[in-house]
Amino acid sequence: MKVIVVGSSHGGYEAVRGILAEQPDTEIQWYEKGDFISFLSCGMQLYLEGVVKNVNSVRYATAKGMRAKGVNVFVHQEVTSVNPDAHTVTVHNLDDDSTREEKYDKLILSAGAIPASIPVSGRDLENVYAMRGRDWAIRLKAKTVDPDVQNVTVIGAGYIGIEAAEVFSKAGKHVTLIDILPRPLALYLDQEFTDILEKTLTDHNIYLATGQTVKEFTGKDGKVTTVKTDQAEYPSDLVVETAGIKPNTNWLKDTLDLTDKGLVKVDDHLQTSQPDIYAVGDSTKVPFAPTGKSLQIALATNARRQGRIAAKNVLGHDMKMPAVSGSSALSVFDYHFASTGLKEGTSAANGVKTQSAFVTDTTQPPFVPDAAGNQQVYFKLTFNPENHQVLGAQIMSKRDVTANINAISLAIQGKMTLDDLAYADFFFQPGFDRPWNIMNVAAQEALQKLA
Ligand code: FAD
Repeated sequence: MKVIVVGSSHGGYEAVRGILAEQPDTEIQWYEKGDFISFLSCGMQLYLEGVVKNVNSVRYATAKGMRAKGVNVFVHQEVTSVNPDAHTVTVHNLDDDSTREEKYDKLILSAGAIPASIPVSGRDLENVYAMRGRDWAIRLKAKTVDPDVQNVTVIGAGYIGIEAAEVFSKAGKHVTLIDILPRPLALYLDQEFTDILEKTLTDHNIYLATGQTVKEFTGKDGKVTTVKTDQAEYPSDLVVETAGIKPNTNWLKDTLDLTDKGLVKVDDHLQTSQPDIYAVGDSTKVPFAPTGKSLQIALATNARRQGRIAAKNVLGHDMKMPAVSGSSALSVFDYHFASTGLKEGTSAANGVKTQSAFVTDTTQPPFVPDAAGNQQVYFKLTFNPENHQVLGAQIMSKRDVTANINAISLAIQGKMTLDDLAYADFFFQPGFDRPWNIMNVAAQEALQKLA
């Protein structure tokens, strides 16, 4: 059997890996249009802050290593179209400008997404950057040490924008962080958490311009100098656009069924509208456990899960994509937060009526000194008030307690209730935590509220 995999990031890598692990004799052709295999944007902040020194190490695999395993790796070669009837793809070799047809028995597409560009005038000026992939990583890194760059404006205060703002703040730049929403990280955290983070960001020389709409970029000598919003003007030597992504599927629109947002429609086995063609990653939707509906949740975790499941199905298994909760975590200077499932702030948009219990405590018993790691922890549990089902949670502390959110993700997936969580068995050791884990405490408080 010959399998063609398109895209070498999380989804494509996992698909290749999954096939190799189970049927290493499969003929695999793996295509990447960039000149580098399997760069991980997830590791970009670590590189930009100098924690990881070599940009080329921010990857899962090398072409040489994968070729040694028998994979036919094609770098700088773009798959430009698919002919489902003939079971062929057209490949454009970007090195010599030649094209050829390649036959497949099964095709897995992980073409991902590209950064969305804000549709305002001036967006073609120099020094308007994006933050995704190795090329942008290298360019952004140069700007962190460029003395001509003093004012950096980041547009979009989601987790990528927060990463960008933190990088440039740590590099000594003055950062303005603009978002159309009234709070940073509004889709990840409710206000109890973002109030604290807003102060942290401001304390680190990041000016928050939330609740503002970008209207225009203006410049001088072809370079950006100012970002204008509906409320103010911000001097900008560098603009980093992190205001969302769009699926990289224009080249597939005449071949596969797409949603109105351009996402590839897949069934629960990740098969597209055409036989023997599977799609995974940021250009698809995933089933969302708290609601049972499908959503676009652009995370590496989802892409890898899908890549593995597509590989299984290609190899003849019968495997459905499990529902996910959209769990994610991030550090913002001294704070570490994680969230999963629904928040108070996202329930209405998902058409679900929820209630929440917010609790705060210290991570360890009061006799443990701060110097031993005892820190304030903030936790919010979101649930269905009628059937008590756990639907989401958020946690934040200066101590890294983010892994608790994985337990809540599992509770959501297992359709557990507040009653299950209130007395669930979690370990206690004063060096780590308290006799009642904060998840128990929040569930007990929620039940009391409902009684
Ligand atoms: P992409 O990563 O978009 O990659 C698609 C690949 O396919 C690209 O290499 C592209 O060049 C190639 N390609 C596209 N079309 C073709 C074609 N026609 N022919 C050949 N090659 C093609 N997620 C997390 O879970 N945790 C994190 O901490 C995290 N941090 C992130 C930080 C940043 C700065 C960014 C930008 C993203 C982060 N993400 C994180 C999200 C995660 O990176 C994405 O969800 C993930 O990359 C999606 O993988 P993908 O395989 O769908 O596609």
